[in-house]
Amino acid sequence: MTEMSYLDGNMLDGPLRELFAVDLSAATGRCASCGATGPMADLRVYAHAPGLVGRCPSCTEVMVRLVRAPDRAWLDLRGVTYLQVPLPTAQPFPRPV
Ligand SMILES: [Zn+2]
Repeated sequence: MTEMSYLDGNMLDGPLRELFAVDLSAATGRCASCGATGPMADLRVYAHAPGLVGRCPSCTEVMVRLVRAPDRAWLDLRGVTYLQVPLPTAQPFPRPV
């Protein structure tokens, strides 16, 4: 078995910072339950749970949970197959040496 080269997880800081600095309501999400695709702004958000719960407008399954404490937050995206986030023209990610 050959050893594949990899980068330290710290290299994700820049690319993830770029993603999470954008308005995610402009992102397109795919529901993990029914496969519907649409703007995250179309989710039905319930704020009377412990945190915010975003449900799919097609099948009503939970797509997003966000809980905020005074010093931290929990983001649960397991109901989303993917998020497509509009970004300015991409900078290529560094390649392993
Ligand atoms: Zn759905």
